[in-house]
Amino acid sequence: MSKVRALVLERQHELALRDIDLPLEVGPGMVKIAIHTVGVCGSDVHYYTHGKIGPFVVNDPMVLGHEAAGTVVEVGEGVTHLKVGDRVCMEPGIPDPNSRASRLGMYNVDPAVTFWATPPVHGVLTSEVVHPANYTFKLPDNVSFAEGAMVEPFAVGMQAATKARITPGDTAVVLGAGPIGTMVALAALAGGCARVIVADLAQPKLDIAAKYQGIIPVNIREKDIVAEVDRLTDGWGADVVFECSGSPHAWKTIMSLPRPGGVIVAVGLPVDPVPVDIASASTKELRIENVFRYAHQYDRAIALIASGKVDLKPLISETFDFEDSVKAFDRAVEARPSDVKLQIRVAK
Ligand code: ZN
Repeated sequence: MSKVRALVLERQHELALRDIDLPLEVGPGMVKIAIHTVGVCGSDVHYYTHGKIGPFVVNDPMVLGHEAAGTVVEVGEGVTHLKVGDRVCMEPGIPDPNSRASRLGMYNVDPAVTFWATPPVHGVLTSEVVHPANYTFKLPDNVSFAEGAMVEPFAVGMQAATKARITPGDTAVVLGAGPIGTMVALAALAGGCARVIVADLAQPKLDIAAKYQGIIPVNIREKDIVAEVDRLTDGWGADVVFECSGSPHAWKTIMSLPRPGGVIVAVGLPVDPVPVDIASASTKELRIENVFRYAHQYDRAIALIASGKVDLKPLISETFDFEDSVKAFDRAVEARPSDVKLQIRVAK
């Protein structure tokens, strides 16, 4: 065990920047990473304000943070693709490589997966972390640490776009212009969509999304999304609909949005079960896909960022110093509609 400074969620509503003992021995196949930048995620904030997410309850002090980039400072035995000094980002989930889900290539749904900042597993808002080299990805020189820390949420967008099986020229709808909805829209455009209609109630969020070429914002406070999609697709419907709001209201009319034979990709998680209109889905032969985190997306997410095809920098609203971590979280709790992603710079 080593004593390191970390942002610790002591219990619901109580954060502290303090020293904590964390295991930092570098075993075979592992690397030690000096953390540079960590993004504040909705899930981190939810543990702070609610003390739990579904079955995951914060019973003991837990270090927050799972969207991270940093520099390799030590390499364990048998690691060949990384060396000291490499700039990297990390997948926060560590599956059991021998599990049935992992062997099927679906390591994201391995029931045994351990995931940073999901109780009782500590996160990475701290100076150093030891992680499997297999889930650590080298950043090209033209991808910054801040962008590296955006790869985690962007990987969710990549997973959604992959599950949609987009065909070049498709029209997509994204319900919800939060950080994930916006990243899903960008992944859909990178995946070949000609245009993405993004719907939300909050105009500042739509304004940020609308700066990207190909995104058509629809404020659903002013316009009916079904009528808008109808109008924009000459009554045919969208090829792909991504539900990213997690709102039960979205599911009331969602079946009217896709074209016959289209697809709905469920990304947002409603808190309670929602009724789903199966008859409408049947008569249109809709395909319905689900997304839980991501698998095999980091390489391609990093490649898209490095190519310049996807620019996530405009989504970083503000960067806080590590010493101001609690301030960063209190700002996130405010949920300003003009904030997309807040980040914490751990490195001096
Ligand atoms: Zn996240």
